[in-house]
Amino acid sequence: MSAGMSFALSEDQQLIRDSVAELMKKFDDKYWMERDQAHEFPTAFYDTIAAGGWLGITIPPEYGGHGLGITEASILLEEVARSGGGMNAATAIHLSIFGMHPVVVHGSEELKRRTLPRIVNGDLHVCFGVTEPGAGLDTTRISTFARREGDHYVVNGRKVWISKAMESEKILLLTRTTRYEDVEKKTDGMTLFLTDLDRTKVDIRPIAKMGRNAVTSNELFIDDLRIPVEDRVGEEGMGFRYLLDGLNPERMLIAAEALGIGRVALDRAVRYAGDREVFGRPIGMNQAIQFPLADSLTHLDAAELVLRKATWLYDNGQPCGREANTAKYLCAEAGFTAADRALQTHGGMGYAEEYNVARYFREARVMKIAPISQEMILNYLGSHTLGMPRSY
Ligand SMILES: Cc1cc2nc3c(=O)[nH]c(=O)nc-3n(C[C@H](O)[C@H](O)[C@H](O)COP(=O)(O)OP(=O)(O)OC[C@H]3O[C@@H](n4cnc5c(N)ncnc54)[C@H](O)[C@@H]3O)c2cc1C
Repeated sequence: MSAGMSFALSEDQQLIRDSVAELMKKFDDKYWMERDQAHEFPTAFYDTIAAGGWLGITIPPEYGGHGLGITEASILLEEVARSGGGMNAATAIHLSIFGMHPVVVHGSEELKRRTLPRIVNGDLHVCFGVTEPGAGLDTTRISTFARREGDHYVVNGRKVWISKAMESEKILLLTRTTRYEDVEKKTDGMTLFLTDLDRTKVDIRPIAKMGRNAVTSNELFIDDLRIPVEDRVGEEGMGFRYLLDGLNPERMLIAAEALGIGRVALDRAVRYAGDREVFGRPIGMNQAIQFPLADSLTHLDAAELVLRKATWLYDNGQPCGREANTAKYLCAEAGFTAADRALQTHGGMGYAEEYNVARYFREARVMKIAPISQEMILNYLGSHTLGMPRSY
């Protein structure tokens, strides 16, 4: 660790940024527009990322990965989003990149050997099943129940918004193994599985949604799904705790994706503002167009600094809840605002699909809601950092 302050990327980190940016040139705005409009998974992109070894960036080397930190993963996802791939690109790979953290830390050796190398080489697609219609952000209220029967669990319940479930072979599934009413602490009694998404027992229905349409988000109706005990991640009843470990990194990675979309939106806006002439001058000469874009630059740069601090703290084993939450909040705001201004800069053409900023706008919007809403971030900062009373 260097003694003073440093804002520079290491040579390796810069190499990651440059390599990913180079690789993403193969997938232009037209590629993403077409995937989005056809509601078609970006297989060529996914395969390219897998072939480059990028899916294993944080997975330990003994399972085929590179064992790098969240700083490196955040640079990867920022560049992927920034290329114009946005959330369609990021979501296609996000879960492989960091979603398996609870398995890496708490999974049995057998489960890790069986799954992680296949995730790294791209062969195994995974999704993440937490949200339920009856629980919302209050995850402890989930009711999907796993009942132990000999060497199996039998699961019944319902999940909602599960991204990539249609395309996935396995799901990281959060269940209750003790009912909410019967636990002492509401965070107890939940159990995590990494298991097959058996289509004969799970009905998967895509939700028609506002954007990011190259990757589905789905309702899951789970009816007597049998899960072998070997697919349980760690101990019974500890699932929620295992997920908590991964929340800060998840927030940082989402922040990086929001930042990437904000950056590409701003690039496109600046280009259009220079090209488009109205009233005999480029529209970008008008301060009503130029200032919001310059203002967005300041907000994106400031948000990026907090993100860099958060990932540095995490990778150096220091507490980072405040910074991770702040980074997610600021990057989501700055990214969305930049996309909105990019749309405004394009005038009527902003509303046309052809200029891509409408797609960025739709994709940037989701980061204010998922995986954690801006309100819950403020709840965290209000209660944990400022010590104010909790509403949740
Ligand atoms: C495109 C997309 C993809 C997703 N992918 C996945 C996935 O792969 N896997 C998965 O498990 N989930 C996924 N989700 C679900 C996502 O994590 C949730 O939508 C999100 O956590 C918000 O929960 P909710 O929709 O139930 O909102 P609710 O809990 O119903 O909340 C509604 C609103 O009320 C606010 N609110 C609630 N309580 C409070 C309070 N105490 N104080 C202040 N405000 C409050 C919230 O901030 C929110 O704005 C996805 C969602 C979307 C939209």
